[in-house]
Amino acid sequence: MPDNLIQRTASAYTYPLLIKNLLQSPVVNDPQQEIIYRNQARFTYAEFKQRVCRLANTLTEIGVKAGDTVAVMDWDSHRYLECFYAIPMLGAVLHTVNIRLSTEQILYTIDHAEDDYILVNEEFLPLLEQIKGRIDTVKDYILLQDGQQQPETTLTFAGEYEALLAESDDHYNFPDFDENTRATTFYTTGTTGMPKGVYFSHRQLVLHTLAGIAALGTVVVHGRLHQQDTYMPMTPMFHVHAWGLPYIATALGLKQVYPGKYTPEVLLKLIDKEKVTFSHCVPTILHLLMSHPLFNEIDLSNWKVLIGGAALSKAMCKAAMQKGVDIYTGYGMSETCPVLTLAHITESDLTEEEELEIRCKTGRPMPLVELKIVDEQMAEVPADGESVGEIVVRTPWLTQGYLKDQRNSESLWRGGYLHTGDVAHKDKYNYVKITDRIKDVIKIGGEWVSSLEIEDLLATYQGVGEVAVISLPDQKWGEKPLALVVKRPEVEINEKELLQHVRGFIDKGIISKQLILLKVKFVETIDKTSVGKINKRLLREMHTDSKS
Ligand code: AMP
Repeated sequence: MPDNLIQRTASAYTYPLLIKNLLQSPVVNDPQQEIIYRNQARFTYAEFKQRVCRLANTLTEIGVKAGDTVAVMDWDSHRYLECFYAIPMLGAVLHTVNIRLSTEQILYTIDHAEDDYILVNEEFLPLLEQIKGRIDTVKDYILLQDGQQQPETTLTFAGEYEALLAESDDHYNFPDFDENTRATTFYTTGTTGMPKGVYFSHRQLVLHTLAGIAALGTVVVHGRLHQQDTYMPMTPMFHVHAWGLPYIATALGLKQVYPGKYTPEVLLKLIDKEKVTFSHCVPTILHLLMSHPLFNEIDLSNWKVLIGGAALSKAMCKAAMQKGVDIYTGYGMSETCPVLTLAHITESDLTEEEELEIRCKTGRPMPLVELKIVDEQMAEVPADGESVGEIVVRTPWLTQGYLKDQRNSESLWRGGYLHTGDVAHKDKYNYVKITDRIKDVIKIGGEWVSSLEIEDLLATYQGVGEVAVISLPDQKWGEKPLALVVKRPEVEINEKELLQHVRGFIDKGIISKQLILLKVKFVETIDKTSVGKINKRLLREMHTDSKS
């Protein structure tokens, strides 16, 4: 053994980085601090901890054991927060089901993750009814509901969440285990093909939480998250653990507000009533809030909003700042837990234009993030604010691959770095700015749609010769899909019938509902690169300019 290795006294405790340990400080320091669910429920942190124990006892009672996968299908709620803790603390894996996927994709993710149990909000029962005969692995369900009315369903349940918790003991002795145990899994459609599972260990989530606390809490003024903040997510909890903020907020002991299903009115009223001071969302959600009359009526001058998932436009940033909102950008992806960079203002005496510029950048890497911008040979491009390359990263909290998918895992991880598929430049102050992406996907309102999948569907339609689906910038949705179609000479086709063809697949739950926004444009030819691939970058430029 080398001399400098730490010698361990026999009874010394090595303290594994487990999610249960995130509960150490707030519960002890301020048991009266509140966790709120819409206008419906309020709990103290002391009660929250008891409920986490009750949930653990309930789950154990119905048969959940370490290594099982427990899925949750819910809107943002106190229940979801309890699952964020209780399920991994048992040594089981929390699968946060993306309920915005198509029904067939949801079935695929349930099967692929090999879910053993599902906690399901009554709103999603009709969806489960459609696929229940084809779900092979699930042994039991728990019903989640806000009211008390018995839902009409043929599914049977181990019980209703609140009733089960009420019957369970409020103590649970959570065991220690290896910090590298898988804690969470969920699926991303940010790559082509079927959704891909990413997964994170206790150690990864704890380190992401600590780095997040440091990065968000150590800026001097702008965008700082501190102990007196009131936190409300506006990025769903099924999407990358709501960017990890529920873990950060709980570890800091903040007042937290969970809004259920997002509607602009509910969100704005909660911000106003509960004096929310910190939120995060994709630009589409902020756009929805800004378009609602209440946005101009309530005081938002104490509200900090972290925007991510897509670039923040200067126009949106400026309009929010005029309302007094402290708005800025963050960047990450499902594969990265997610947060990689934050665009905090760290200097004073900036002009309004300079501030805007910084707030809308992609940001600077947070602690422990090694971020490089490289060319195809993995050589770093100059940090001159102009030279572009792909963002590749290393941090302790990156998914180590795609679940049960060796081939795609190997293309995600190359040369020891995770490849993001995002194209960016970096300046001498280490500010990154995303300018494009290599991956062939479209992000509509924060949700991914595979362009290849739509191309396949359109290509099977009689009369379609060649087809390329590209994204165009859109103020409300961020991006909108446009299909460029070259007709075959012998058959006459029009946009309406092509859209009806696509609609058929949406109605059957085979493809994403977001594709309702698809538009079609007939063209003579589709441009290719020198190696014969469709030149989507050029197509995007051509069709954006012509305001298609
Ligand atoms: P997701 O896995 O759904 O969270 O999507 C991650 C992807 O969203 C990234 O790889 C980027 O392409 C995009 N994205 C996230 N944050 C930003 C940002 N601040 N600016 C531009 N694109 C972003």
